[in-house]
Amino acid sequence: MAASLPIFHIPETQPADPGISRLRDSHGRVIHDLRVSITDRCNYKCVYCRTGELGAQYPELGIDEYLGIIRLFVDLGITKVRLTGGEPLLRRGLIDLVRELASLRTIFGEPLDLALTTNGHLLDGLAKPLKDAGLDRVTVSMDAVDQTIFERITRVPGSYQAVLGGIRAARQAGLTPIKINCVLLRGFNDDQVENFAHFARQEDVIVRFIEFMPLEEGRLWTPEIVVPLREIVERIGRVLPLRELPPNEASETARRYTFEDCRGEIGIIAPVTQAFCGACSRVRLTSDGKIRTCLFSQIEHDLYGRIRSGASEEELREYIVSTINQKEARHHIGEPGFLKPSRSMVHIGG
Ligand code: SAM
Repeated sequence: MAASLPIFHIPETQPADPGISRLRDSHGRVIHDLRVSITDRCNYKCVYCRTGELGAQYPELGIDEYLGIIRLFVDLGITKVRLTGGEPLLRRGLIDLVRELASLRTIFGEPLDLALTTNGHLLDGLAKPLKDAGLDRVTVSMDAVDQTIFERITRVPGSYQAVLGGIRAARQAGLTPIKINCVLLRGFNDDQVENFAHFARQEDVIVRFIEFMPLEEGRLWTPEIVVPLREIVERIGRVLPLRELPPNEASETARRYTFEDCRGEIGIIAPVTQAFCGACSRVRLTSDGKIRTCLFSQIEHDLYGRIRSGASEEELREYIVSTINQKEARHHIGEPGFLKPSRSMVHIGG
C-alpha cells in the first residue's frame, strides 16, 4: 500500500493564540484531538468486538506516511494525538513514530499530548522504550479482573497475566496516569464492577467503565445489554462511597469519581445514556488513511487517496478543514432508523 510520499514540513511555529486553530466544525466545536489507527490487526478477538473469524480488513500505511499526515493535522491545530488500532503495539516502527511525534510542536509551540490505547498484551516489553521515545500516557483495555472471565473475553490463554504485567511495567516506566478501559455487558462481565473499584485502588490506576456501543463486528448490541452510568455509580457506591470530581477539561468524555478517602479514581464514559457529542473535540484517521469525523459516520473522507493523486500540502490542509466542517452534530444510538457505521470499532480505532 505504501506510496512514496514526502514527509510534510510543519511551518514555523505560530504565536500562542487559541483563535489560530483552523479546525473548527460547523457546530462551533474546536477539534484538537486526533486518534490514529496505525494497524488494523489485533492479537485479541474480544467477544463483544470481533466475530473471531476475520483478520485485518484494511491496509496499513507506512510509518512515514502516518507521520506526514499527523503533521498536517498538527499544523492546523491538533494538540493531542492518540495512537490506536487494531492493536498498536503490533505495529513495527511504533517506537520511531512516537519519537518523531514527541519532537513535533503544536501551533502554540508546545509538545503534543501523546497517548496510546492498547490491550496491554505486549506492554511489559514495550513500556520503557515507549516512555523513552516520548510517549506520555497509556490507556489499557481490560474487561475483567477475574482471570477466567478475562480470558473468555479475549479468547487468548495467558492474556490476563500478560496484561497485568503490562500495566505494572507501564507504571514503573512512568506512563502515568494509567487508565484502564472496561466495556461492560450485562450478564457477561457486569459482576466485575465492584472488584474493579478495588482494583483501581490496589493498582493505582484510573478505571473507566465504557457503555457498550453498537460498533461490534457481529450483531450483539441491544439497549438491554448496556450497563448505564447510573447503575454503575449506585453499585460501587454501595461498597465504597463515591464523590464526583470536576472534569479535567470541557471535552472530557468521562464522568469522574473518587472514593471517600480520595485514594483512587474511577470514570464512567456514557456515550449511550448521556451522550457528550456537544463537547466532542475528536477526529479519527483509519489505518488506510481515511478521515472519520464521528465513530458513527456513514461516510469516510479519503485523505490518503488525495495524497496518492499528488495533492499539495495546502490542498490537503484545505481538504482536512472542509472535512472537519462536515462533522456530524451527534450520533443517533438507540433512535429509530439508527444505522450502524460502515466499520466496526476494531477497524476504526477506539
Ligand atoms: N487494541 C487496542 C485496545 O484493546 O485498547 C485499541 C483498539 S480497541 C478497538 C479500543 C477500545 O475500544 C477498547 O477499549 C475496546 O474495549 C473498545 N471497544 C471495542 N468495541 C467497543 C464497543 N462496541 N463499545 C464500546 N467500546 C468498545
